[in-house]
Amino acid sequence: MRQITATSQTLCMTAEIVSIGNELMDGFTIDTHAATMSRILAECGVDCHHRQTVRDDWEVLVAALKEAIGRSDVVITIGGLGPTGDDLTREAIAAALGDEMVHEAEFEERLRKFFESRKMIYTEAQKKQTMRPASGRLIDNPNGTAPGLVCEKDGKTVIALPGPRGEFVPMSEGFVREFLSQRTGGVVIVSRTLRLCGIGESQAEVRIKDLMYQENPRVAPYAQPAEVHLRVTAKGATREDALAVLEPTEQKIRAVLGEFVFGVDKTTLEEAVLALLRARKQTVSVAESLTGGEMGARFTSVPGASDTFLGGVISYTSAVKESCLGVTPETLSEHGPVSEATAREMAEGVRSRLGSTYGLSFTGNAGPTSEMDGKPVGLAYIAIAGPEGTVCEEFKFHGTREDVRRRCTQSALVSLRRILLAPN
Ligand code: ATP
Repeated sequence: MRQITATSQTLCMTAEIVSIGNELMDGFTIDTHAATMSRILAECGVDCHHRQTVRDDWEVLVAALKEAIGRSDVVITIGGLGPTGDDLTREAIAAALGDEMVHEAEFEERLRKFFESRKMIYTEAQKKQTMRPASGRLIDNPNGTAPGLVCEKDGKTVIALPGPRGEFVPMSEGFVREFLSQRTGGVVIVSRTLRLCGIGESQAEVRIKDLMYQENPRVAPYAQPAEVHLRVTAKGATREDALAVLEPTEQKIRAVLGEFVFGVDKTTLEEAVLALLRARKQTVSVAESLTGGEMGARFTSVPGASDTFLGGVISYTSAVKESCLGVTPETLSEHGPVSEATAREMAEGVRSRLGSTYGLSFTGNAGPTSEMDGKPVGLAYIAIAGPEGTVCEEFKFHGTREDVRRRCTQSALVSLRRILLAPN
């Protein structure tokens, strides 16, 4: 493995993104460009330490830029490069760097010709785009009139990018990516996400706490409903080097948390559960009231599911629970449709009627407001009928109707996986 220490200085390059615009501050435009840029920075091996969002306000902007330049190696601004009065980025960068503004005569000539060729009037306002801080150079913008800008001064770099998506994305994916890759000496970033279920984020973190403070590879947990994702990101001089850094950490995580790891990167929980059933030559069917078909939709979203997922019944009314699943009228009148007894009979009914190894059922109140039969919003019963017998769990979920349904199907998958992996 090639030694990484030779590039250790460049490996630590830090960056900060400054998104500029009133429409961002007022919530009318979502700052998706900052997220795109964060991803590009990570992929180029640059650590994004801060992100700021500021108004089109001279003093606020200059202060934000000075702060960013003071603490980060690379500052990337987004927006405010256009010709209108509220576009202040170019001048604010000059002020923050202590630069004069200089005129780009050659670029102005090109801009005039461009306007002429389109029979558009070149106004004095356009001239603003032909000015740059003295330490800067323009970045070509084939998709718009406002060029980007890169300034390098006193060991700091400021890159200014235009806001319109059709201009921002090509400049970021092209110029910025290449510029940063050169500066980081071609560091390669490799990441792998281990997907866990059946354990909470904090419990998972406690078990691998020694790994959480490493610099290379980094381990970052992301909590998802009923899942925890551990993203392991390694840097190296080559892809092989980065993998050689990543893999020992992955093995350490698996040694401690392996029973909870159901997949890597894009593997979904439904995919993982179907794969377990397939390996055992077993099948599953579903009886859905509260989830209204979501469990069936999740299973059928997996290509090739038909050898393992047999089908299901959306038994939303009591009549369908009785006629299609064999839930008894006594159970429904004595315990109500939202009850453990009903959930058990639904799961057993679908299992025997469809002839599957396992039957999953869902009944409950997804809300958002009404209390059905005195059953509170979020109350859910999930039953699993199988060769080992029938188990039923009671849950009290929070959130919107969609959240409750999603949490139900997640919990059912976690429980079925646990049953499938349990020693006989
Ligand atoms: P111009 O003024 O020439 O259009 P500009 O560089 O001054 O270019 P802005 O005026 O700041 O860009 O933004 C133009 C449009 O780009 C905004 O109305 C918005 O739709 C989009 N935009 C700007 N910044 C962002 C961002 N951070 N995330 C997503 N969209 C953005």
